[in-house]
Amino acid sequence: MNINENTTIYYPQDEMNTFLLPVTTGCSYNKCAFCSMYKDEEYFEIALSQIKINLVSVDKNIERVFLTGADPMAIGFDKMMKILVLINRYLPYCACVASYASIKNIARYSLDELKTLHDAGLRLLYIGFETGSDDILKKMKKSHDVEEGIKQAKKLNEANLQFNTIIMYGIGGKGKYEENAIATANMINQFKTRKVITMNLIVFDETELMKMVKRGEFIPADQMERLLEIRVLLENIVPVNELIFDTTHPTNIIKIKGTLPKDKEMLLNQVGQYL
Ligand code: SF4
Repeated sequence: MNINENTTIYYPQDEMNTFLLPVTTGCSYNKCAFCSMYKDEEYFEIALSQIKINLVSVDKNIERVFLTGADPMAIGFDKMMKILVLINRYLPYCACVASYASIKNIARYSLDELKTLHDAGLRLLYIGFETGSDDILKKMKKSHDVEEGIKQAKKLNEANLQFNTIIMYGIGGKGKYEENAIATANMINQFKTRKVITMNLIVFDETELMKMVKRGEFIPADQMERLLEIRVLLENIVPVNELIFDTTHPTNIIKIKGTLPKDKEMLLNQVGQYL
């Protein structure tokens, strides 16, 4: 099976100029309350033969590949290794293979397997941690809790496999901005991450979250609370290593970017101006 012209392919804005290699389509989990991305798509894995065809037909000078799909790590170690071997064979100058990944599926890989994938070229994961609050993770029907998130993040650190941490402000709903920002910062402070990418919660039609809103079980945070959440988050991040703080994803209500800890004051000033 291959993707067709009706398939929507999602990828991070940082990977806009990267060669996109379809590995899966749909989402192997597909239950997060706020997510509408893959609701109508069936999960399937692209056959290795098709992946090979896609690789043979592109410019061999490509230096960066992004594996597309909600979480290509769902395919397991053996198939992932085979894909990395094919990439090395057909794109000999590729220095970085990147992918989305979920904590649930990273947990299926041993430390040694992650080290092996890193050595074979997998160099960057984009992981949806969303929040450092167990209550909110549960409410949003994520497949992991905070302890598991931190455990898998530390395993990736040990495997030397870099990752970006995607978090979402507004996800706690009205009145939760401070609690959520502090919990999320506390989580981030436990591991090394290359980048914190913020997204702003949007309640999409036909999601479980929209039903919760209609039933009065979730009241979205207002704009001011969301700005305050970014400020409290920034104030409380004390990173283990230098990291990029990036709110330039299109969903965000403010666009700021800098390196923590050195740019903290500058970023806080920028948030202050919006406030
Ligand atoms: S947020 Fe990610 S893991 Fe959750 S349903 Fe959407 S694509 Fe799947």
